[in-house]
Amino acid sequence: GRRLAGRTVLVTAAGQGMGRAAAIALAAEGARVIATDRDAGLLAGLEGVDIRQLDVTDAAAIGAMAADVGEIDGLFNCAGIVPHGTILDLTDDQWQQALDVNVTSMVRMTRAFLPGMLKRAEITGTASILNMSSMASSIKGFINRTAYGATKAAVIGLTKAVAADFVKQGLRCNALCPGTVDTPSLRGRIAAAADPVQAEKDFIARQPMGRLATVDDITPLIVYLLSDESRFVTGQAVSVDGGVTI
Ligand code: NAD
Repeated sequence: GRRLAGRTVLVTAAGQGMGRAAAIALAAEGARVIATDRDAGLLAGLEGVDIRQLDVTDAAAIGAMAADVGEIDGLFNCAGIVPHGTILDLTDDQWQQALDVNVTSMVRMTRAFLPGMLKRAEITGTASILNMSSMASSIKGFINRTAYGATKAAVIGLTKAVAADFVKQGLRCNALCPGTVDTPSLRGRIAAAADPVQAEKDFIARQPMGRLATVDDITPLIVYLLSDESRFVTGQAVSVDGGVTI
């Protein structure tokens, strides 16, 4: 398809997992994709996209990237980390890091790129920001996800606020709320468990469809929310979770 022909979309955390799959899918739809990640080595194999190193916790680097890249039509704020533990395990440093990576990064990225996106929206009628949240957020609580759930809930609040402020200027902003997706970092969380076999079973058990999502279950919704097909959709937390939140 060519659903994003003529459009430029920037993706954070495009080195692996959903960000990478999104970068490939968006390019396949004709977008000029700027694929960024903290780990430049992970971006190396991506073909047909513009590859750039970006740590989303680096405010100066975000400013420099926005100045260099200029106006974009789509922004996929995908970067995020998954701290493990209850509130009694949570140190101030871990909490601050979760806020920095999962929320403040999106504040800074949005602030830096939004003016250019509004200019693009004047021309094309619509520009779209997609923020990665999760089913573990204001939607549902999960064990050992204190910092994660709180920060992913903040992503939804940020998303709705931006959507409300710029709806009249053609700028849309939505949040994506996936269930458990089989990605490298999920494999890492399983491997780090005391009993990895049981941990994988437990992740699968909380999915009513009886399996983990693959990135291919998620990317169609990412492409949709960043394309004009979703032009009447804004301020939403869109779930793709295999029935967890039925
Ligand atoms: P992943 O966690 O396997 O990969 C994450 C990528 O983010 C890596 O390439 C890493 O280098 C990059 N990254 C980490 N910190 C960064 C930073 N400071 N700046 C730039 N890049 C950074 O991929 P995933 O599992 O698809 O997760 C992507 C997003 O999806 C995260 O926000 C995560 O919270 C969210 N999410 C994941 C799941 C899941 O089950 N996997 C479910 C819901 C939401």
